[in-house]
Amino acid sequence: MALVEMDWPNIGFQYRETPVRFVSEYKDGKWDEGRMSTDPNVVINESAGVIQYAQTCFEGLKAYRTEKGDIVCFRPDLNAARIAESARRLCIPVFPEDRFVEAVKAVIKANADYVPPYGSGATLYVRPVLFATSPVLGVKPAVNYEFRIFVSPVGPYFKGGAKPVSLMVSDFDRAAPHGTGHVKAGLNYAMSLYAIEHAHELGFNENMYLDAATRTYVEETGGANFLFVTKDGTVVTPKSSTILPSITRRSLVYVASEILGMKAEEREIPFTEVKEFAECGLCGTAAVISPVGKITYDGGVIEFPSGMEKMGPVLQKLYDTLTGIQMGRIPGPEGWVVKVVENA
Ligand SMILES: *Cc1c(COP(=O)(O)O)cnc(C)c1O
Repeated sequence: MALVEMDWPNIGFQYRETPVRFVSEYKDGKWDEGRMSTDPNVVINESAGVIQYAQTCFEGLKAYRTEKGDIVCFRPDLNAARIAESARRLCIPVFPEDRFVEAVKAVIKANADYVPPYGSGATLYVRPVLFATSPVLGVKPAVNYEFRIFVSPVGPYFKGGAKPVSLMVSDFDRAAPHGTGHVKAGLNYAMSLYAIEHAHELGFNENMYLDAATRTYVEETGGANFLFVTKDGTVVTPKSSTILPSITRRSLVYVASEILGMKAEEREIPFTEVKEFAECGLCGTAAVISPVGKITYDGGVIEFPSGMEKMGPVLQKLYDTLTGIQMGRIPGPEGWVVKVVENA
């Protein structure tokens, strides 16, 4: 076993097949014990619940090598809890949370040669997914399901520093209707593709979505939560029951208030307040924080004082602290960094 050779800084964010994935099947009312598989393909019936009625949800987390040379992942227990919530909302049987964490660790370990080296900026992206495999025709939950965890090495989100992005306030809603905005599921992403393509055509990197009911409050972007900094240095993040509860956002708010001694608030943010903020960023597993330089809306353009060249100072401090904890350079709260392989 030896680390595979790749041009780590340039591999990009795309699916790359690795040797092993975890597969468990739900049959006769229970999840089987699961197994490692070398087969990357899934063969299911043409009328499977996932194909007909999008009965599926997923998670995303990263494994990486720390400065000391361990292979670790970050707060997988929160991914376990969140996919359990998503599954319940989609009438998919919950995969037990403790078994989820064990399976995530086992898959990473089995693909250890694909965990990029420390300092390369690249990581091993871990994708757990639950989906309905048995046929349905009338609208109802399927009977059989599959839980699968595969991994793919991915390159650094930003090469040569995080460049601020430009957003537009979208006329579309982010998520599918029926209040599924807090669910991490393909159906919400499918509903956002048209809006993202539209934003790209107009020259923007991403959308800012407002709440679907009143178009008054800030929600999130396609796949990341917002974090703002007020002019007096308070970290503010939207409170909403229709956004995805980002693990990165929750970790950053904790870092701000409990480690850096800053003021941090989770509250409703009317869009009219956004022009008052000093800094704006998007947070999620992929980039940790992606700075936002400006936001265009039908009344004009909001340009944040931090500008289009670099991340603002407060977000930079949060970014450095959280990535420092993740990489083992700074001690973090108990249970955040989970060891998978010691001294790999
Ligand atoms: C996954 C996801 C996020 C980010 O969550 P993290 O746990 O921080 O990766 C934000 N919004 C949406 C819609 C997501 O699917």
